[in-house]
Amino acid sequence: MDSLAVLKKYFGFSSFREGQKDIIENILAKRDVLGVLPTGAGKSLCYQIPAVIFEGITLVISPLISLMHDQVMALNQAGIPAAYINSTLSPKQTAEALRRAQLYRYKIIYVAPERLFAPSFLQLCSKVNISFVAVDEGHCVSQWGQDFRPSYLKIKSFISSFKQRPVLAAFTATATSIVKQDIITFLGLQCPFVLTTGFDRPNLYFEVRKPKDKDEELMRILKKWDGNSGIIYCATRKNVDKVCDLLRNNGIKAARYHAGLSDDERKIAQEDFQFDRAPIMVATNAFGMGIDKSNVHFVVHYNMPKDLESYYQEAGRAGRDGEPADCILLYSKQDVHIAKFLIQNCKQSESTSIAQQNELIKNQEERLKQMTFYATTPYCLRSFILRYFGEKTYEKCGHCSSCTGLQVLPSLKKTTQCIENDLELVFAALRHLRNLIAIENQIPAYIIFHDRTLRDMAEKMPLDLEGFSKVSGVGEKKVKEYGEVFISLIKQVKNIISSGEKFSVKEMQETAALIFNNLKPWSDQEILRLRVEKAQKMSIDSISKLHKRPVSAIEEMLQRLI
Ligand code: ADP
Ligand code: MG
Repeated sequence: MDSLAVLKKYFGFSSFREGQKDIIENILAKRDVLGVLPTGAGKSLCYQIPAVIFEGITLVISPLISLMHDQVMALNQAGIPAAYINSTLSPKQTAEALRRAQLYRYKIIYVAPERLFAPSFLQLCSKVNISFVAVDEGHCVSQWGQDFRPSYLKIKSFISSFKQRPVLAAFTATATSIVKQDIITFLGLQCPFVLTTGFDRPNLYFEVRKPKDKDEELMRILKKWDGNSGIIYCATRKNVDKVCDLLRNNGIKAARYHAGLSDDERKIAQEDFQFDRAPIMVATNAFGMGIDKSNVHFVVHYNMPKDLESYYQEAGRAGRDGEPADCILLYSKQDVHIAKFLIQNCKQSESTSIAQQNELIKNQEERLKQMTFYATTPYCLRSFILRYFGEKTYEKCGHCSSCTGLQVLPSLKKTTQCIENDLELVFAALRHLRNLIAIENQIPAYIIFHDRTLRDMAEKMPLDLEGFSKVSGVGEKKVKEYGEVFISLIKQVKNIISSGEKFSVKEMQETAALIFNNLKPWSDQEILRLRVEKAQKMSIDSISKLHKRPVSAIEEMLQRLI
């Protein structure tokens, strides 16, 4: 299968984004690659597609456990067998994963860098065909980047331990030239194809505010975004707790995340956010690398971060689905002092010498200076960022607070409350159905379908499986799994709309719930329960209530059981 066919079959997209095709072709031609693409550009597909096409197994080295979990879930949903090996697995689970890997049950294995030299893992690598190794967040190998991880330095010798050297590709969103060079040197990329795409994210609106009272300002911002998902970054744990309390006291469902919480608390917070139970996340920079939540509509920085690399990466978590999104920095002079303090008190790894440490600090202070310039410049904010990352750029972008001269949110936003037309109604119905399926199956909603996919579905309104498969973001497995139920809903909604009467979002959601209850798949356990209930001669009505399914659905299943 060629790469375009894989893109369509598994991921449901019909064209590549900028840079993807070149990168994939070079990897398939067995050339090492360094891909430098901004957050949200689609780096994952650059290694997942070759992984499907290559024989044997692809390893993906990735620094963060949450990222692995998310990506493996999404891959399995798309019909690509994948697994991860990291510290969250028990020894027994690890052994099982390794056993299956040896039988080539997986195409892709995510692995934490610390695990590479575990004897059992090395043994696996010597037994199976590892054709390709992808290093995600490659900048972690560089001491000049913002997330240096000493374990990344071991990747090079890991690669050289193979008898047959796999193709090696590294990906990052950090584009400064010193970091790029470090990645090539320290990972040992051989004569790599280097591709850097444009760093602009046109759908993001950038704004700096200098409010007297940050809390009041924050509440004002949140009011505008009512109910939409967003992240609020704070510099310290104390601020995270304070801001989170503020929101909760104002009746806003917020989760919080920082290094001072237990693993369990962090896990719950992350899931609440991911599953949209808590649409707002208040967090330190400990939260985020590897979070692939696509429907984040805004990122507010309550404090200025310590460098533009961090800022652009964190702000860039907004609008990954391509929808308009806002990135707002609440700046005060105090932030500079906090950042300086954090830089000077940052724990260094023990292996760094004093001279190295001083050099690191000097470097960070220089980056902080640039960050402060961003926060205070009267000129175009987007151009400032792009120039910082070495891109030639325009004078004025027309889509940041400097260019528009306004300190208000752009009116681009659609909130869920304000329904403009039929399209929005259809979207609301589809979204509700997706969310119900997500809750039932305990997977995050965006892993079933992104909002963007639902928008395309609402526009196309397919009435058969053929049409359904043409929706952007719908691959083969998802046609099989979700086609029937979504098409039924679309048919129903179409009827409602063509009746010409006025309908509310709530009624649309009820319709979705009805369809869902009618068509949701029966698990073996549920069928067993039904058999028992029937044997006990319970009335159809009470069975229907117990199962939260309409009487007709119960009757139909009982028919089938006979
Ligand atoms: P990155 O790792 O570069 O930050 P991701 O790989 O997480 O970005 O991708 C961001 C989003 O873009 C994902 O939701 C993904 O489904 C989507 N995406 C990637 N490639 C394409 C494509 N060719 N067409 C449409 N959407 C895409
Ligand atoms: Mg990524």
